[in-house]
Amino acid sequence: MKYVIYRIINFLILVALIVIFGRKKISEIFESRRSKIEKSLDEAEKIEKTQIPVFDPGSVETPNVNKEFPTEESEYTDKINNIKKSEEDTCLEMRKEMLSQVRIDAINNIKEKAIKMFSMQSYRSMLAKRESQMAVNILKSIHLTPGDIAYLKTHDVLYVTLTSAYPMPDNVVKQIGDYTEQMLAEIGGKTSYWVKQDPSLIDGFCLRIGDTIYDCSIKEELYRLTEITQKEFLSGDETVNEILSNIDRDIVNMGNKVHIYQLGRVLTVSDGICWMDGLADIMYGEVVEFERGQLGMVLDIKSNRIGCVIYGNYDHIESGSRVRRVGRIASVPVGIQLLGRVVNALGQSIDGKGQIRTTERRPIECHAPTIPERAPVDTPLHTGIKAIDSLVPIGRGQRELIIGDRQTGKTSIAVDAILNQKGKNVICIYVAIGQKETTVAEVRERLEKYGAMEYTTIVCATASDSASLQYIAPFAGTAMGEYFMYAGKDVLIIYDDLSKHAVAYRELSLLLHRPSGREAYPGDIFYLHSRLLERSAKLSEELGGGSMTALPVIETLAGDISSYIPTNVISITDGQIFLDTELFYEGQRPAVNVGLSVSRVGSAAQTKVMKQFSASLRMKLAQYRELVGFSQFGADVDESTKKTLDSGKRMMNALKQGRNKPLPDWKQVLLIFAVSEGFADDFNTEEIEDYEEKLFGYIENYRSDIKERLESGKKLSHEEIDKLKKVLEEMCKVI
Ligand code: ATP
Ligand code: MG
Repeated sequence: MKYVIYRIINFLILVALIVIFGRKKISEIFESRRSKIEKSLDEAEKIEKTQIPVFDPGSVETPNVNKEFPTEESEYTDKINNIKKSEEDTCLEMRKEMLSQVRIDAINNIKEKAIKMFSMQSYRSMLAKRESQMAVNILKSIHLTPGDIAYLKTHDVLYVTLTSAYPMPDNVVKQIGDYTEQMLAEIGGKTSYWVKQDPSLIDGFCLRIGDTIYDCSIKEELYRLTEITQKEFLSGDETVNEILSNIDRDIVNMGNKVHIYQLGRVLTVSDGICWMDGLADIMYGEVVEFERGQLGMVLDIKSNRIGCVIYGNYDHIESGSRVRRVGRIASVPVGIQLLGRVVNALGQSIDGKGQIRTTERRPIECHAPTIPERAPVDTPLHTGIKAIDSLVPIGRGQRELIIGDRQTGKTSIAVDAILNQKGKNVICIYVAIGQKETTVAEVRERLEKYGAMEYTTIVCATASDSASLQYIAPFAGTAMGEYFMYAGKDVLIIYDDLSKHAVAYRELSLLLHRPSGREAYPGDIFYLHSRLLERSAKLSEELGGGSMTALPVIETLAGDISSYIPTNVISITDGQIFLDTELFYEGQRPAVNVGLSVSRVGSAAQTKVMKQFSASLRMKLAQYRELVGFSQFGADVDESTKKTLDSGKRMMNALKQGRNKPLPDWKQVLLIFAVSEGFADDFNTEEIEDYEEKLFGYIENYRSDIKERLESGKKLSHEEIDKLKKVLEEMCKVI
């Protein structure tokens, strides 16, 4: 009995405790459930109400409602249209791809047929009759190149080799031998004349004098045919028959021309570097082709050997194999077709959207505009970032360095600058050098999300690409930008980042056995970056007035801007935006260090009104940073210092800005004016973002005249400043 009573008492105490402590919780749960149910009922009612006029056929208002609020149906048709359009595009691309594949297959087929055809007796005798004519053609085109003459000076014997697919008539062999001997005797040299047979020529013959080949063989004709047909621009409307008939026509004309080119021999291949001999007249920067079609670029010319970097895979290149001059300096495709695309350092598409068909190419290395060809930088290139447009303004044609430690927001600033060019007729090129593929993918996604990809090209040589591709990527991007600059357009190019570019060049130089200098970089590393950045300029009116603005990025180690590569690039550029790790971790983003950042073009690249209000800003902020240092010691600060500290902090907070939120110039001016004149003093330093939103909302909604006045960019008169102050005072009362 006693136990039962105890149990009842315990139970009652438990219930009382639950009621005392859990009552609030239980009522909260009921309350939230009730509000949820009410909310969904409201929503259902709202949907019913809005749907009635849309689907009511008798309603007069229907067309208007449809216009203002796009119904699901219209969204659906839009989507269908978009899908249809993109399907059409992909179909066209696929068709183009298929046609080029058909062409390649057809060429291979024809090659096989040609080989069979030319080994038939009837063709053999036909070509044999033309042999003497071919010999005459060859002898007419022979000339000694500067390379041959230089070789003769040191060796006095030049090798001459006549190679044919079938045995040649004796008189033709003798004619060629006599002619070359006589030609060399005239300049005091001797020949060593060899006659060889090589069935791989299929038919015809070729003459080699020194490193130069004079070729009349079918093998060479087929090689040229493949080259031309692969490069030829396909409109996408041709039929397979048309392609085949084109190739047939080319085959009939074979053997009438002498093809002249130079050959060399691979000595060694390792680490993407190939050493060769031969190629007597090769030039620095010229493209060479290996036997299986791989390409390389000459980067070193010594008296007895030539060093080149190989683009891409070099597994199949062997010592002793042939290498030929392509006859052009390394170049990339350029044109409007590249916009919206991601390409590698050779200008080939890597975004899976199919081949890019451009009609023009530009050499990757090119002279920078000369002084008379340039005009002073005077037009601003707004980045939409408050801390930059007000303190380190960038002008069109300027080179402004973005420098900072890793993970301090360098790429974010560059990408925000691209986003802000939307609708401003500026073409953007983002060159990623040695970046992770995920970083590049993220940049591309951001650009696509905010609609910036349509005026942007991404040139990408990631960390997994060879050093040679990383080395040429910024030059390739610049060539693409130059095309637009010389067409009178404005271009913004970002090199992200040049420290990795320097590392790639150091690797190549060391592999090319060049002497290493400071920090093991080669001696010409400064020249490398200066000839790259000097190509960004503002052109004179006579040349169309185009411009190319460069934002190179440099990564520092522990904020050390005095190491080799940072000092180099600082001295080449027209200023730098220094990003401070400390500021970044304090939450100041973008973490622009006002003291160390500078724009040497200065306020010429600012609107008059921005110049008027931002002039004293740098000074005030520098003063603030100084005082912050002192106040950290805990010393008592007087009232005026406190005020300076407070307003400085408020301004620093006003300069904070998230990613992907570029601000137009007039908003920046308005905010800087309001904060520096003390109109935001009623707000806590942390609440400036709130004030910013209210300010922009108020001016946009109620005082569009002020917005228009500030948008004009002209300097404000005293009366206008007073008026603006009054408006801001009024606003303070309202909000
Ligand atoms: P890395 O050295 O790896 O190239 P980085 O200096 O280019 O880095 P970012 O990749 O641009 O730096 O940014 C680093 C980080 O800082 C990112 O996570 C980004 O979200 C953040 N960040 C950069 N700028 C801002 C900003 N204005 N507001 C908020 N976060 C930012
Ligand atoms: Mg980065």
